[in-house]
Amino acid sequence: MLLQAIDNIDHIFEPYRKSIENSYDDWFRKRFENDPLKRDLYLTFMSLFVVHWIVGAIFTMADYCALKWPSIRRYKIQPKELEKSFNLERFMNLATMATVNLFFCFMITTFIHFIPSLHRSATNVPTFTRFIFEFIISIIVVEAGFYYVHRGLHYPSFYKHVHKFHHEWQAPISLTILYVHPIEHFLVNVIPILAGPWILGSHPSFTWFWIVFSLVVGMSNHSGWYYIVNLLGPPLFHDFHHHLFIGNYGLMGLFDRIHRTDLYFRQSRYFQNYRIILGMVPKEIDDKKGD
Ligand SMILES: [Zn+2]
Ligand SMILES: [Zn+2]
Repeated sequence: MLLQAIDNIDHIFEPYRKSIENSYDDWFRKRFENDPLKRDLYLTFMSLFVVHWIVGAIFTMADYCALKWPSIRRYKIQPKELEKSFNLERFMNLATMATVNLFFCFMITTFIHFIPSLHRSATNVPTFTRFIFEFIISIIVVEAGFYYVHRGLHYPSFYKHVHKFHHEWQAPISLTILYVHPIEHFLVNVIPILAGPWILGSHPSFTWFWIVFSLVVGMSNHSGWYYIVNLLGPPLFHDFHHHLFIGNYGLMGLFDRIHRTDLYFRQSRYFQNYRIILGMVPKEIDDKKGD
C-alpha cells in the first residue's frame, strides 16, 4: 500500500525529475567537462562566498534599517546590542574570518577528491519521495551532529581555545555564522552538514541544494530577528545560546528536549516570545539573564 503510494507520487513527478537530470548532465558536461573537482570548487565558491555575502548583505541592510528606525528595531531580539554590530573593526574581523573559512572549505573540497571513499554519489537525480527521505535524514543527522559536537565544545578546555571565538558575538548577526575557529567550522558545520548526503550516497544536485539550504538556515538562525520562518527552528532559539552561553546546543531543539538542555530557555522570557504569533510585538529582553 505504502510502496504503491510512493510509486504513484514518483510517477507524477517523474517528468520534472527527468528534466532536472537532463539540465544537470548538460551543465556538468558543458561547463565542467564532467570534472567533479572543477564543479565542486565552483559550487564551494558560489555557496560559501556568493550566497553567504548576498544573504549577509540583505540581513545587514535590514539591521541598519533597525538601527535607524525604532519601529523596525523592536523586531530585533537584542535591540540594545545593535550598535555593536556596526563597529568597523569588529566587522572587518568577521569578514576576515569568513574568508579564512571559505579558503579552508576549498582545501576540504580538494582533499575529498583525492580520497575516493569520501566521494560516492548516486548517478541519478533523486525521485520526489527519495528527495524528501534524504532531506529528513539529513536534517536529523545535522541536528545530532551539531548538538553533540557543539555541546562538547562547551567543555572548558575546548571552549577556551576554540569555541569562545564564536561567542564573542553575544548578539549575533547573520554573518556571524562563519565567525568560527576553522577547527570548529570543520567539526560543527562541515562534517554534520556533509554527513547526511555522504551516508545516503546522495546525487550532487541534492548535496549542493542541502549545503546552500543549511547555510541560509544557519544565517537566519544567527540573524537576531524574531520573525524568520525556517524549517530548522526560529532564530530565537540559537540567539538565547549566544546571549547566555547556556543550553540550546542544537538548531531545532530536538536533542535539547531529549537531554533537557533547554530547561533554562523554557523558563526565560525568550521562551514566551518563542510562542508569539506574527504581528505581535515581542516582549523586550534587556537584562543579562534573559528573563
Ligand atoms: Zn552560533
Ligand atoms: Zn556555543
